[in-house]
Amino acid sequence: MPTGTLFTVSAPSGAGKTSLVKSLVDSDSQLTVSVSHTTRPIRPGEQEGVNYHFVSRDAFRQMLDRNAFLEHAQVFDNYYGTSQEWVEKTLAEGTDVILEIDWQGAAQVRRLMPDTVGIFILPPSQEALRQRLTGRGQDDDSVIERRMDQAIDEMSHYPEADYLVINDTFEHALEELRAIVLAQRQRLKQQQERFGGLLEKLLRH
Ligand code: 5GP
Repeated sequence: MPTGTLFTVSAPSGAGKTSLVKSLVDSDSQLTVSVSHTTRPIRPGEQEGVNYHFVSRDAFRQMLDRNAFLEHAQVFDNYYGTSQEWVEKTLAEGTDVILEIDWQGAAQVRRLMPDTVGIFILPPSQEALRQRLTGRGQDDDSVIERRMDQAIDEMSHYPEADYLVINDTFEHALEELRAIVLAQRQRLKQQQERFGGLLEKLLRH
């Protein structure tokens, strides 16, 4: 069985990354998304074990001490990490894995696993991003400006990725993400692992 491909998907918050990844994974049985551990408080509508494994700072530190994380990073005031054991097991089963992580995590993963495919999602304009970050209009301007600054910092790391998707319309961006995943599966190395028997038979005289 071929080993799965590891993808990282990074984006500033407000670029629509989570909805895109959810749709992508829901429509592809060979693809799954890793559920990170985080110390950030759970938000309304989120579910333990679905959006994140929500853990205390102590529990996170213990996992760090056990080297349980493939990568980890501090984003704003909270810690986030990806379970190494889960990722390795899932890839070994032949399933492709998406890590929805920030640029710091993506850089760590790329160093450890150079075959990782890095994808960056960007919004179609600063105005569209600002609108998404403004949300329900309950935050004051200084909060929005801080979020914009953080988003611009994250976006500045787009050149570190292998693929760039502009989320102009949801359907279009989703199609582009699907194309990236499919193209990756047809790469020679992957196909040689998958069709080793066939390839050998085809070349027999
Ligand atoms: P949020 O708290 O809004 O869900 O996520 C904040 C940021 O943390 C996002 O950029 C998200 O991609 C990133 N993030 C989520 N999980 C992980 C993780 O396991 N590792 C790293 N490095 N970043 C993560």
